[in-house]
Amino acid sequence: MKRIVILGGGESGAGAAVLAKKQRFDVFLSDLSEIKDQYKTLLDEHAIAWEEKQHTETLILNADEVIKSPGIPDKAPIIKQLLKQGTPVISEIEFAGRYTKAKMICITGSNGKTTTTMLVYHILKNGGINVGLAGNVGQSLALQVATGTFEYFVLELSSFQLDGMTEFKADIAILLNITPDHLDRYEYNFQNYVDSKFRITQNQTEEDAFIFWENDPVIKAELKKRNIQSAMYPFAIERSEKTKAFIEQDEMIIKTLKTLFTMPTSELALKGIHNTYNSMAAGLAASIVNVRKESIRQSLQDFQGVEHRLEYVATVKNIRFINDSKATNVNSCWYALQSMKTPVVLILGGTDKGNDYTEIEELVGEKVKGLVFLGVDNKALHSFFDDKISNTVDVRSMEEAVKAAYAMANDGDTVLLSPCCASFDLFKSYEDRGKQFKSQVRNL
Ligand code: ADP
Repeated sequence: MKRIVILGGGESGAGAAVLAKKQRFDVFLSDLSEIKDQYKTLLDEHAIAWEEKQHTETLILNADEVIKSPGIPDKAPIIKQLLKQGTPVISEIEFAGRYTKAKMICITGSNGKTTTTMLVYHILKNGGINVGLAGNVGQSLALQVATGTFEYFVLELSSFQLDGMTEFKADIAILLNITPDHLDRYEYNFQNYVDSKFRITQNQTEEDAFIFWENDPVIKAELKKRNIQSAMYPFAIERSEKTKAFIEQDEMIIKTLKTLFTMPTSELALKGIHNTYNSMAAGLAASIVNVRKESIRQSLQDFQGVEHRLEYVATVKNIRFINDSKATNVNSCWYALQSMKTPVVLILGGTDKGNDYTEIEELVGEKVKGLVFLGVDNKALHSFFDDKISNTVDVRSMEEAVKAAYAMANDGDTVLLSPCCASFDLFKSYEDRGKQFKSQVRNL
């Protein structure tokens, strides 16, 4: 019997184990950390052998194939050993893809993946399509393949997931943008990361669709080097000869061989240029799937957005509060500021990953009247902003941050939490940071 070993007992690992068992393989799951109770129960229910807080080599190195959680880097000793002895190491998505005939709509990019994934899912579901949601969001693909019968899946794929994919094919691939990220996992070579993102198009034929941002400089340069067979669906604000989704006279237009769709940009639920891109990408995918235009329009209009991404919280004494806690790099804060239409009090700070704030300098100068530095170590923020903005304050908790920002803001202003930084100095996660922000605003 073929032996499948799964490394990592989180959502994707546990799901892969259940699917592998269902396919009657000899299955073993191993995690170097503790496995959450819910996954232990799931494994036990399916009589799957597992271990935690260790990797027993004799039980792992005899695998015919290994499914690796995207969180485990290739340089982990156990992976090195497996690769050295020639054992195939794949991702949960690659594995699950073998056992379903569902069509795959796959979304990747450096920023905007979750938003676009949720938006595509929202449009398809409201359009009456039998669709599942997986990848980095929600339940694992493997578990849903093991238990459900969807006609389509919308998958959010990180570069780490794409790395473990070879035979898998996206029927519709979306590549939103490429900016440097996670270089520590790519030997500090940007091209390796770019190649990983471009795996979203691998195995595609002319029957498949490739949706991408036409003006992304990295994508543009890469397309010149590659011979991609897929039907191309570029989107951009300004239309060129080949653009399939664009903006003209404040209307979002989708124009393909099959369809002509228009909608005023003012009616789009998601605000900001970055979200216009996300809406164009999602609209293209939905029109390729043949969702009715009226239904696409309705869904682009009533989409509630995703928590912690430019999420409206409340208005207190005519001051708006916006939670963009997921903005963990400077580029996403740039897009947040760019979308602001009033003077802003900006709350930022946290674990600095060597940030260069030059990117937001101009927008801060234009729109920001006060800065609240929320972090254990605010030195980098002070050295960049002190000679540019006079109104700054240091705080050490979300309660202080919200009070300080509220005190700085006037009638008609916006208080924006868009930290540019990871959250681990003062919070458990960006979700925890965003939730604390919302609860402090509601306490005002
Ligand atoms: P991801 O899943 O790729 O991390 P999210 O949808 O969670 O992306 O958004 C993360 C942050 O990136 C948000 O705070 C948002 O302001 C910004 N963002 C969203 N879409 C885009 C885009 N298309 N281009 C640049 N930044 C974006």
